[in-house]
Amino acid sequence: MLANLNTLFAEKKDRALAGFNVYGYEDAVSIVRAAEDLNEGVALMVNRDAAEHIPLSCIGPLLISLAREACVPVAVHLDHAVELSSIREAIDVGFSSVMFDGSRLEFAENVEKTCQVMEMARKKGVSVEAEIGFVGYSDPVAQPQNIYTEPEDAFVFYERTGVDALAVSIGTVHRMVVQEASIQYDRISRIRERVAVPLVVHGSSGVCDKDLTRLSHAGIRKINLGTCLRLVFGKTLRREMEENPEEFDRIRLFRKPMEQVREAAKAKMLLLK
Ligand SMILES: [Zn+2]
Repeated sequence: MLANLNTLFAEKKDRALAGFNVYGYEDAVSIVRAAEDLNEGVALMVNRDAAEHIPLSCIGPLLISLAREACVPVAVHLDHAVELSSIREAIDVGFSSVMFDGSRLEFAENVEKTCQVMEMARKKGVSVEAEIGFVGYSDPVAQPQNIYTEPEDAFVFYERTGVDALAVSIGTVHRMVVQEASIQYDRISRIRERVAVPLVVHGSSGVCDKDLTRLSHAGIRKINLGTCLRLVFGKTLRREMEENPEEFDRIRLFRKPMEQVREAAKAKMLLLK
């Protein structure tokens, strides 16, 4: 069934929900099957790269339909929207959750725009995530530097906006292909002492398995993963193509990568228990 983040947070109680970035049908359906295998809720997320490749008006209905037919609650979440127009479009298409990313704006402007998003989303029962601090990127072309979240900023931001979830910068970096992130557990505790909003960690493909479990147990409520599943899909597909040089039918070539994504998603979800 289609659900927003608040429903999923309630279902997960004091453990973290897995949010996976998806680029299309193949990874999305594999993740939903993984969630069903474990009888757990999950979030399917569309980031800017995916939205540039497939318009929200196309991928939205696809994911929403998968969510509606799933036997577990599934959120369909727009990730890292920087324009209010994309938020509006996602809500119109039927996304159950959105993230407004004002992390590169001045604090006051981030508050103001997030409040506008809250107003749009509340009417439709759509949950809202925002970001305080800045989670950097490992790609050399993107703005790489992390700006760590200050507990006081998180508190003031939540007081003024009332968002459903808050992404914080506590040591992870987006798109890491090795699990080497150094997590600042002390910062997480200080943020949690100051503010009761559900916290989200982005860039979690770079977090080692032990730390994924620890983050879930440390009160993080959503863990975003994407790169790790894309690596599994890409590597398995490459092997399939090398082993079957005559095969040209992508439906057959996608079978193994989809199975492997399902297993990898399940393994990550099990780490959050
Ligand atoms: Zn992110």
